[in-house]
Amino acid sequence: MMECKETGYIHSLETFGTIDGPGIRLVVFFQGCPMRCLYCHNPDTWAPKKGQTMTVDEILDIYEKNKGFYSKGGITATGGEPLMQLDFLIALFEGAKKRKIHTCLDTSGILYRKEKDEAYRRLFASTDLLLLDLKHSQADTHKTLTGQALQSVLEFLDAADKSGVSAIIRHVVVKGYTDTPKEWDGIGKIIAEHKNVKGLEVLPYHNMGEIKYKELGLSYPLQGMENLSKELAQKARQTILQSIRKYRSQNHLS
Ligand code: SF4
Repeated sequence: MMECKETGYIHSLETFGTIDGPGIRLVVFFQGCPMRCLYCHNPDTWAPKKGQTMTVDEILDIYEKNKGFYSKGGITATGGEPLMQLDFLIALFEGAKKRKIHTCLDTSGILYRKEKDEAYRRLFASTDLLLLDLKHSQADTHKTLTGQALQSVLEFLDAADKSGVSAIIRHVVVKGYTDTPKEWDGIGKIIAEHKNVKGLEVLPYHNMGEIKYKELGLSYPLQGMENLSKELAQKARQTILQSIRKYRSQNHLS
């Protein structure tokens, strides 16, 4: 097998990941993120070109050493934002597929650009499952909540849909931002328009990341924000699912 020396900046590895994709997984936290989500748990991943440098083969060899352990799992790229190191991400996933390893990409899609169509075609071809973090359905509040425009996220989802890669949407319910039936309906409408979306995970906001801001000397943007319940997240999920059904049946009829 050809060696792959492509190098990336890695924040950390989790060797026993159970929440980012199916089965037990090697979770690779990429360093660098252009978003500034008000509720981010990982501000220590924001700065680019920090952390440890690792080659594709070094990561895949760690996986292979514990292969038996990951029998129904695979590798997940998360962050930070993996798309910040697009060439390295593609090399990692293409290398994983050569070794028949299941690949899962957890991303906000924010760095998608149509001009990089060929690179994204290769990325989608080597991605088995996409976990897309859809932060908000409306452009203005998306910008307030994340510091970045919604448009690229939607274009990323369109491109993923065209490529046929299966996606699970992830959405966080935050009081005052994403806790209304109107917003849940908006999320449902976006999902309904993309037939590659096969699942939906809705999580309630909690302030567990706050301690990291203190450690980094940063002020926590959602200081005093109340944690939300699993029940509210469940209600949001049900409402989004109803909206998906409504919009899909309308699209079908029109
Ligand atoms: S996209 Fe993820 S890592 Fe980046 S700021 Fe948002 S929550 Fe944090």
